[in-house]
Amino acid sequence: MIVVMQTGATKGQIQQVEEMLIHLGFKTHPIYGEVKTVIGAVGDKRLLNTQLITNMPGVEDIVPIMKPYKLASKELKQTKTTIQVDDIIIGGQEIVIMAGPCAVENEQAFYETAYKVKEAGAKILRGGAYKPRTSPYSFQGLEEEGLKMLDIAREETGLKIVTEVLDTRDVEVVAEYADILQIGARNMQNFRLLKEAGASGRPILLKRGLSATIEEWLMAAEYIISSGNPNIILCERGIRTFETATRNTIDISAIPVVKELSHLPIIADPSHATGTWKYVTALSKAAVAAGADGLLIEVHNDPTRALCDGPQSLRPDKFTQLVDELKAVAVAVHRTI
Ligand code: PEP
Ligand code: MN
Repeated sequence: MIVVMQTGATKGQIQQVEEMLIHLGFKTHPIYGEVKTVIGAVGDKRLLNTQLITNMPGVEDIVPIMKPYKLASKELKQTKTTIQVDDIIIGGQEIVIMAGPCAVENEQAFYETAYKVKEAGAKILRGGAYKPRTSPYSFQGLEEEGLKMLDIAREETGLKIVTEVLDTRDVEVVAEYADILQIGARNMQNFRLLKEAGASGRPILLKRGLSATIEEWLMAAEYIISSGNPNIILCERGIRTFETATRNTIDISAIPVVKELSHLPIIADPSHATGTWKYVTALSKAAVAAGADGLLIEVHNDPTRALCDGPQSLRPDKFTQLVDELKAVAVAVHRTI
């Protein structure tokens, strides 16, 4: 539920209400708006003495949150959440582009790709060091060695780093190197991992599960926020449908739907959604037109030799062209790149 404080409620009054809610066994999440402050309170409703809270000085009202996800919901917070990584703002006016190979493979090629995606306009460099592969015989990633290459690429290019954490045992080391932790589609409901990655304090890029509903996805986000980390970027990466012409089916409608239901920023990953580089440009445009706050795109210097996801990876020149073409779409929806 939400405790709505009166306009002009003092800091002391807000604190008293929070203390009372905590005393009653609730977890509190105050949101300081320009006009009003509201306090999200999550816990067992039966423990709530409504009369007691409404009679406290500065309290205007108590409103229940109907959705099962509380802290991720627009009911609690109407203003968009923005996630700041140094000077990069995700969820603001600018479409933030994250790009790079599926996996960090080879030092020299990786640094070259990093420079090229930066030149094209990417702000964040991607590259997996721990890879969730369908086959145990496929390349599994360079692990910490790969993280070190990401670190060097950041130093050299100034790009920020997003990389996947696969397992709770790796959260500490990945968080040491990454600016943003990625939770992959296969782990969207790995609740221990969600909590531990959240507790690292790094922003989390939360991919939608292969067959997850939007509600399940937002519930996964709720795990992270309720563990004390509100900095979540949702990522639509395609879902399983009956269609086999593409690797997955991008759910474009998820973008406006999520924006209606949640205050969290949402980006799209047209690479994993299609599995084919040829479709990536068209779907990047569609995602931005639908309101995506950013894109996650796989780019590889030589896709034919990629150890992972080559068929969906763009060559750097094609990626540069994509970003150029995207600018007009961004302008049409009052955004910038
Ligand atoms: C990836 O980003 O390389 C990846 C494995 O993505 P997903 O979890 O969406 O399959
Ligand atoms: Mn990939």
